[in-house]
Amino acid sequence: MIRYNKNIVKKDIFMKTALITGASRGIGRAIAETLAKEGYNIVINYNKSENEAKILLSQLEKITGAICVKADVSDYYEVERMVEEAEKRFGAVTHLVCNAGISARGLLDSMDKCQCDNVIDTNLKGVIYTVKAVVPSMLKRKSGAIVNVSSIWGKTGASCEAVYSASKAGVIAFTEAMAKELGPSGIRVNAVCPGCIETDMMKKEGFSDEELKALADCAALSRTGRPEEVAAAVSFLLSDKASFVTGQALTVDGGFI
Ligand code: NAP
Repeated sequence: MIRYNKNIVKKDIFMKTALITGASRGIGRAIAETLAKEGYNIVINYNKSENEAKILLSQLEKITGAICVKADVSDYYEVERMVEEAEKRFGAVTHLVCNAGISARGLLDSMDKCQCDNVIDTNLKGVIYTVKAVVPSMLKRKSGAIVNVSSIWGKTGASCEAVYSASKAGVIAFTEAMAKELGPSGIRVNAVCPGCIETDMMKKEGFSDEELKALADCAALSRTGRPEEVAAAVSFLLSDKASFVTGQALTVDGGFI
């Protein structure tokens, strides 16, 4: 599913084009809005939230080149097709943000195989598939920047989020490995590790107001974070201001860990 505004065409291959997975809502949406204001063409990936993606597209195409592409990041072939669509429209994906993710809260004992598979397939394989699909054209140009969205739980592990923590730790290791593999070709790969950020994901986890307050109090800044605050860190890591930064996992948690 692709829509774009024919009035704004930025197909120059030297233009910056950012593909953001899971950009229909939450942190991904904030990243798309931030990068659009900075002049990137934007590829909005979504899976289920078509209405939200279309609303975002109509906002962004007023200020930059933008399309939205439906693809389930846990499906290798859908990811390949998504990247092909993006390259066809804009010439190249110069910047990539692997943000799409799901959470699953509960004791490991209470999780069935399907839940375990969904978390690993979306959060870890989804990142691997998307990076794999985007990298060939970055290698040809010998430039590019990638940011993968991990989590503080990928650094420390969280009780009742063991599989999620494992998926996010995998994202950090993958980021570090790809930074070494792609660095000689001029491609930087970093990760961000958000703490507790106010999005649907936090709401879905079913925290009570008291639990949310307790979580907020665990941060040195005594509050939860906003999606825009993660987007600002992603923007920095993608930008030339971070031209000598690669293989890092930047914590954005208000001092939680
Ligand atoms: P969210 O509000 O639930 O949004 C999740 C996004 O991921 C949605 O746009 C969703 O798209 C997309 N998505 C999920 N499964 C997908 C799939 N199979 N294929 C493509 N897109 C998919 O969550 P969020 O809080 O913004 O989280 C964004 C990222 O930050 C995740 O990787 C999450 O693990 C990480 N993170 C969040 C927090 C937090 O406190 N919120 C903390 C640490 C890390 P559709 O609705 O279109 O399916």
